Amino acid sequence: MAVEDLNERHPALRILEDMIRIQSVNPHFDPGGRGEGDMADYIERRCAAAGLKVTRQTVFPGRDNLIIELRVGKPDQTLLFEAHMDTVTLGAMENALEPVYRDGRLYGRGACDTKGSLAGMLYAMERCAAQPGLAGGDLVLCASVDEEHAYRGLLAFLELDIPVAGAVVGEPTELGITVANKGCVRVALTTHGKAAHSSMPAEGDSAIIQMMRVIRFIHERLEPELAARVHPLCGSPTIVVGTIRGGTQINIVPDRCVIEIDRRLIPGERPEIVEHELIERLERELASEGVKLTVERLLLDWALDTPQEAPIVQAAREAASGVGLSDRLQGVTYGCDASKLQELRGIPSIVYGPGSIAEAHTNHEWVPVSDVEQAAEFYLQLARTFGRLGAVKG
Ligand SMILES: [Zn+2]
Repeated sequence: MAVEDLNERHPALRILEDMIRIQSVNPHFDPGGRGEGDMADYIERRCAAAGLKVTRQTVFPGRDNLIIELRVGKPDQTLLFEAHMDTVTLGAMENALEPVYRDGRLYGRGACDTKGSLAGMLYAMERCAAQPGLAGGDLVLCASVDEEHAYRGLLAFLELDIPVAGAVVGEPTELGITVANKGCVRVALTTHGKAAHSSMPAEGDSAIIQMMRVIRFIHERLEPELAARVHPLCGSPTIVVGTIRGGTQINIVPDRCVIEIDRRLIPGERPEIVEHELIERLERELASEGVKLTVERLLLDWALDTPQEAPIVQAAREAASGVGLSDRLQGVTYGCDASKLQELRGIPSIVYGPGSIAEAHTNHEWVPVSDVEQAAEFYLQLARTFGRLGAVKG
């Protein structure tokens, strides 16, 4: 496709160009972040013009989820499209808000994470609105706020309890049908010692030395244990000590040291249980070495593990084949909104979108032009397939 010629471009690319020009940086990361307001206005305008029903749900002041519906009389076979409108900060990215085509790529903040997906989903909704006979069941698109920080947009959407039979979450999966992803447990661990003048260290108890024992245990014992366990789609669980802070002054034995740990879970692991076992293990194994620990929970997130026989997975495979794309199933290591849909509402969910997570959040964010076109056609085909597949097989 000749992307140089505006009129030749796939409609999803033109939507994506518009979206890249709209700054929607999550204000949590950046005081200059404008949030999702302008994106929501843009999407609402388009959808209203297409004759779609649009509802706003305020999550934070000036930051609304948009819920877009196409009802064709099959509410029990509703397919949910979900993608977030916020991006990470513009950072040092040059021309972050200017869509630039180069070498088969489209550059711009959010091109990959996740405006490319959202543009494709909007395209599918607009096509079905123009020709409702295309839709195999009812369609709902949730364009959500705040995914990059705390998933608050999706959580608010779930409180509405709109019946949904299956969901596709738009994130960069390189056009792989993603049925599994890792979850995580994040905790802060503090060791407690006793301060003393550094000229008399025997009077004190160094919290940094205690923490050294904790880190050694994590690195030498826990890491190899985790590496020995493998999930067929997601690989091994991992554990990373991401930060360390300890001591106040060079001539004082430190009485406090803190690390933050990021433990990634594979499907089958439950965050509460992993957290409990991790803490209990550290306490049990290290008490004899004089380690005194306290723990603060920072974040728990579920892994995604959608059964391969779920109708959404079957429909996705059929839709992918139908537009000439691979129907392979895959896992990814990063988390997104899908596991919340699955865990909190029991909605079988997949993740699918153009581009690679390796380009997300970088200062040269881009998405392959052909991925955007193909993802858009996949979403449209999924909208056609999902309700019908249930009817045929039911
Ligand atoms: Zn994302």
